[in-house]
Amino acid sequence: MLDFSGLPRYGSVRPKHVASAIDQLLGENRALIARLTAKATVASWKEFADPLENANERLWRAWGVVAHLHAVEDSATIRGAYNANLPKITRYRTELAQNLQLYEKFKALRASMGFEELSQAQRKIVENDLRDYRLGGAELEPPSKRRFGEIQEELAALEAKFSENLLDATKAFSALIAYRRELLGVPEDVLEAAKEAALQDGQEGWKLTLHAPSYGPLMQYAENRDLREKLYRAHVTRASEFGNPALDNTPIIARELRLRKEKAQLLGYKTFAELSLVPKMAESPAAALDFLDDLAARALPHARKDYAEMEEFARAELGIQELQVWDIAFASERLRAKRYAFSDQEVKRYFPEPQVLEGMFRLVESLYGIRILPDTAETWHPAVRFFRITDPNEGLIGQFYVDLYSRETKRGGAWMDEAITRQRIPGGLRTPVAHLICNFPAPVGNKPALYTHDEVMTLFHEFGHGLHHLLSRVDDLGVSGIRGVEWDAVELPSQFMENFCWEWGVLTRLTAHVETGEVLPRSL
Ligand SMILES: [Zn+2]
Repeated sequence: MLDFSGLPRYGSVRPKHVASAIDQLLGENRALIARLTAKATVASWKEFADPLENANERLWRAWGVVAHLHAVEDSATIRGAYNANLPKITRYRTELAQNLQLYEKFKALRASMGFEELSQAQRKIVENDLRDYRLGGAELEPPSKRRFGEIQEELAALEAKFSENLLDATKAFSALIAYRRELLGVPEDVLEAAKEAALQDGQEGWKLTLHAPSYGPLMQYAENRDLREKLYRAHVTRASEFGNPALDNTPIIARELRLRKEKAQLLGYKTFAELSLVPKMAESPAAALDFLDDLAARALPHARKDYAEMEEFARAELGIQELQVWDIAFASERLRAKRYAFSDQEVKRYFPEPQVLEGMFRLVESLYGIRILPDTAETWHPAVRFFRITDPNEGLIGQFYVDLYSRETKRGGAWMDEAITRQRIPGGLRTPVAHLICNFPAPVGNKPALYTHDEVMTLFHEFGHGLHHLLSRVDDLGVSGIRGVEWDAVELPSQFMENFCWEWGVLTRLTAHVETGEVLPRSL
């Protein structure tokens, strides 16, 4: 954990290493801060801001490894190590953000002659830091500072508990189906995966779970309405007051809302929404709500029309008198099959995983003049792959991990996260590294995994975030890659990438029928 010379050592880090590594880094950083805040230290970039940023980066990188493993390979021991060390990290963050002497040094740097000579990136970092000291409570009176610190610590613990509860509640549910007739309509590859999952438990039949590769297709294809209802209810009540009280997130939500409001008011804002928007692009909570209301007003008439059509179709063709929420995905899939004479299942057969990855890589190669090649690294799971991005002269630009498949130990959803952020360092350049994490179905047997068009869009979306991080040309940590980007603007590169999933020229390179190798026919 203390080796920062290269890639994170995912294969070698053990939970028992965490506490001593974190303690050592915290000790070093506190000693450094004492030196940096001394009167004799000049408030310059080189003597003050840069050493502070580098020391913090080492801590964030070490902690980032633990947080990442907690999210993607959540064993009891890694969870234990995460939760045992989280309060130390939160306390340090608060202490850092509230350090009035550091804040004063930054103000002195901002006011110095040297400030105007800094690069645009460095000036932006100093401005952001000044804002963050204020939002971190540096200007508060001592009793409010203490209270602010307590709130930060409690919020961090609540956030960790919230996602653990959700993962545990998702894992806690499964349904073993003994008869295949209960599973009419369910696609063959989903059945095979369910059978395989049952076998791994030493059972016969089909094991259904609430993980995306099982739950999604079941809701979309299972003709068995009672089964859909059962799964839907289990899914929507995970970690709620309707399930195991030990995993109930309701009190956590209530407590978080109270603490967020208290925190905002300590800083002089009326609501948490106001505080949250300070570092974002939207001007005010009212502007954000106006945007959503306007969107709703434009979308609603179309949604109502679609819904009425679906109700009519469900009555006439599916024998469903009153459409329920667990019927929506099923009925819309059937309606699509009827109206456009194709199903998602049919489209999926044109999107085998190797073709999709290959097609996406070749696309960005031609867009950005880069090369993407297989690479090797220590990983946290055998299914994880690793790639490098180079320029046409084989100069290294960045590297990334791809972890596509859903697992019991992985948090739900899809995301991109930074492992290493680009930085100019003495004697060279530290190139960036990203994690791309999805919850897609894994291949069963020797057949490749097949993806729906939605899943392909998700992959493109996350790769868009990845490219934002990896193709950065900024040399200073604080605004390199996705850092320092307003959080309501960070979705631009990801949505930009999504658009290519609708381009015919791209689709022809992204698709190859799993049996015939043909590209997607235009009619589909
Ligand atoms: Zn996104």
